[in-house]
Amino acid sequence: MNDIQHWIAGAPYAGAAATTPVHNPATGEVTGRLALADAAVVDEAVRTATVAAREWATTSLARRTEIMFRMRELVVRHTEELARVISAEHGKTVDDARGEIGRGRETLDFACGINLANKGEYTADASTGVDVHSLRQPLGVVAGITPFNFPVMVPMWMHPVAIATGNAFILKPSERDPSAANYVAELYRKAGLPDGVFSVVHGDRTTVDAILTHPGIAAVSFVGSTPVARHVQQTAVAHGKRVQALGGANNHAVVLPDADIEFAAAQIAAGAFGSAGQRCMAVPVAVAVGEAAEPLVAALRAEAERIVVGPGDRPGTTMGPVITAEARRRVVDYTTRAVEAGAVAVVDGRDHVVAGHEGGYFVGPTVLDRVTPDMGAYCDEVFGPLLTVLRVDTFDEALALVNSSPFGNGSAIFTSSGEYARRFSHEVEAGMVGVNVPIPTPVAYYSFGGWKDSLFGDHHAHGPEAVRFYTRNKVVTSRWPHQDRPVQASMSFPSTTD
Ligand code: NAD
Repeated sequence: MNDIQHWIAGAPYAGAAATTPVHNPATGEVTGRLALADAAVVDEAVRTATVAAREWATTSLARRTEIMFRMRELVVRHTEELARVISAEHGKTVDDARGEIGRGRETLDFACGINLANKGEYTADASTGVDVHSLRQPLGVVAGITPFNFPVMVPMWMHPVAIATGNAFILKPSERDPSAANYVAELYRKAGLPDGVFSVVHGDRTTVDAILTHPGIAAVSFVGSTPVARHVQQTAVAHGKRVQALGGANNHAVVLPDADIEFAAAQIAAGAFGSAGQRCMAVPVAVAVGEAAEPLVAALRAEAERIVVGPGDRPGTTMGPVITAEARRRVVDYTTRAVEAGAVAVVDGRDHVVAGHEGGYFVGPTVLDRVTPDMGAYCDEVFGPLLTVLRVDTFDEALALVNSSPFGNGSAIFTSSGEYARRFSHEVEAGMVGVNVPIPTPVAYYSFGGWKDSLFGDHHAHGPEAVRFYTRNKVVTSRWPHQDRPVQASMSFPSTTD
């Protein structure tokens, strides 16, 4: 049994007595006992982070970037162990976990160039003898609250930029797969980050609420489901914090008849079933336009049937279990209700059993054809390996369907028409768009974020938007009067043309 503690002041921290079990989703076994932070533990983390932030904010950029470079190298060097830590608690394949670490590491790459990304501006002689410059300064102590589905990548959208810009960062990872956060904390220690600049408090909603209401925390970044994102935004704003809260998703991929259908099906299946469908940029909905439908459904069937379901650390597995027994039931129940309402189960994963892993939370890939917009399997975020296919007659109908969704995270189109691709990119109501790309997760030097119920707050995550989120702008107007150039005070509002 692995005892998982908080990480405060550069070391494990036991805190209160309450714990919760952590499971291996491939076996259903309890593998860890996780400490749950109460308000006192959060307060201790904030206290040490506040002290650390004061010195860190004035630590030279050269020193900060040196530590970021070291951290980047440590993440590269330890990718294999970290991928196995992720797989053991999340269930995703080790290869998929390596991929998430690589995409998370991109934000460390970006943070290594923070000296360029966070440069101020300077204007000489804005008025006679008056110069103006701007600088962006850190907020102090900031927190990140993250979901189970990317235990390394999503926190890495946040902490490298928050830290590189001079803040102290407190991470509250998901209680379902918490160990990766402590591993990352250990790497920061090895990289030479001063104690208290990166902390981890584990816990559930009690811990989250203690963070949201703590007066010592200046900003909160959240990623998770829409109802919790809404709660986080409203509570944190009510407590005077800057907030970015990324919510759930229901990403559509539109397939036009002129698309390369085999290619589109392979890409959509990878988007629907990779990580057992538990990605915020997963593709749970394929919208087949006109004559694309029959060949697309046939190709999706072939793709789904090729998937090898099993434990994430078994060579050859291409899809692991879902995160909990409840998540498994959810996929099965949504499938059953859709089939009862008239959907056609082209591939049915409800009874999938992995021999030797009967206690694991496995469900096979499922493709439902002839799904209609009123079915829960389509309109709710199921967050499992369930792909729904809706058939429409025209591009305009497809676009209207996508835009009727309350979510607006990612959206993709498969076509060989530049005209339709351009129209889709411009008219679709989503923050991230793919053209013949199923999971258009932006590279780290762009920012990541959705529209509508997929994001509460203005700033997207990582990249340039994160630099703005974790810093405050300041504009300094200065002059140095001397005897040759006397300056008269004016009772009227001063004009810059004087
Ligand atoms: P979740 O909302 O259940 O949990 C996210 C975090 O909030 C966790 O740290 C959890 O401990 C905490 N939490 C849960 N319930 C809470 C409550 N009632 N009050 C306060 N805090 C609470 O999400 P999850 O199941 O861990 O992750 C899956 C969800 O995250 C999906 O909806 C997925 O779309 C979303 N997600 C979105 C993005 C994005 O970029 N928009 C990225 C990844 C995941």
